[in-house]
Amino acid sequence: MSEVLLMGPGPSPVSHRVRTAMARPLLGHLDPRFLAELDRLQDDLRLVFGSSAALTFPVSGTGSAAMEAAVTSLCRPGRRVLVLSCGVFGERIAAMVRRSGADLTLASFPFGSPVDVDVARRRMAEVAPDVVAVVQAETSTGVASDVDAIAALAREHGADLIVDTVTSLGGMPVRADDWGAAIVYSGSQKCLGAPPGLGPVTVRDGLLKDQPESRSWYFDLGLISQYLGSERLYHHTAPISMIFALAEALRGLREEGLDERFRRHRKAGAAMRAGLAELGLRSRVETADLLPSLTVVTPPEGFDEAELRRDLLFAEGIEIAGGLGPWRGQAWRIGTMGEGANLQPVLRTVAAIGRVLARHGVASAVPQAAAAAAKAWTQTA
Ligand SMILES: *Cc1c(COP(=O)(O)O)cnc(C)c1O
Repeated sequence: MSEVLLMGPGPSPVSHRVRTAMARPLLGHLDPRFLAELDRLQDDLRLVFGSSAALTFPVSGTGSAAMEAAVTSLCRPGRRVLVLSCGVFGERIAAMVRRSGADLTLASFPFGSPVDVDVARRRMAEVAPDVVAVVQAETSTGVASDVDAIAALAREHGADLIVDTVTSLGGMPVRADDWGAAIVYSGSQKCLGAPPGLGPVTVRDGLLKDQPESRSWYFDLGLISQYLGSERLYHHTAPISMIFALAEALRGLREEGLDERFRRHRKAGAAMRAGLAELGLRSRVETADLLPSLTVVTPPEGFDEAELRRDLLFAEGIEIAGGLGPWRGQAWRIGTMGEGANLQPVLRTVAAIGRVLARHGVASAVPQAAAAAAKAWTQTA
């Protein structure tokens, strides 16, 4: 099978070194050599999470599994939970909170807008929540919310903060310690550049001491911490090959350095937007809070957008995604995540979209679009 360039909202392209890490011979999950690798991985996760917390590790499962671990740890009947949502993933958190039996207040903001901090302040004063949850980078709309400000409000109210950083971790700054967040979680297949299958989390020191027993056995962070802490007691079999892959991806991240990595994502996002704009594809959202890792545009009018994406996939070997929720059929979501956040994949994507448009009779200036993308790459700091 020929290789597809993955430029959707995840999974993102995986480097050769990460792929070959998955082909390493297995070790047992209690082998000291495997545990040493896990230790290193946990240290690298602390770096990228901006966290000093002891309990920092990858949940076995995708980003939604990490979300479930966070929600089931903190949300239960009798607790007031405020979810600040501006898209599909905020709504997913709310759906999990509802199932937990907690007293849910859902503050929804329009698709394409970030969380409005003034409204969040008012809702926190009204609800006096025990727990506040927010998505830093909303992958359904391509918009970032101001977690620094929301975290300050949560601290003022003494609420435990859950932050979803699935599309931000490794692509823009995450500051778990500075936020004072209770639990911050993510996924392996977006800006971290590993395949899907692990959901990194970091849990504030001491948080679990005050919590009653979780209703979930598999996602009981306290039980899991016995495997990941000094005791190394068996809880479940760690997905060894996936852990090798994530460890290798994080080693690459540490070598690159966080500042350089964030700069690369900013440059790639700016280049993608500039190239697409030159092709006549305008941003679907009007806000300054655009994600570096994901560009959301309005597909050309008068076409079956899904057919254009199929042409891009099968004729050009490039995957992008359509809209989610209310934007189904009305948006293209184009990622610049991890390995995809480089000039070459951006130029390939812009040129290929231009060719697809031309084949369908839409005037498109491919050389000009490529030039605009390259210029934005060079000029973005
Ligand atoms: C992708 C994503 C998730 C879910 O992750 P899965 O790996 O698909 O389970 C959750 N939150 C956000 C913001 C995401 O982008």
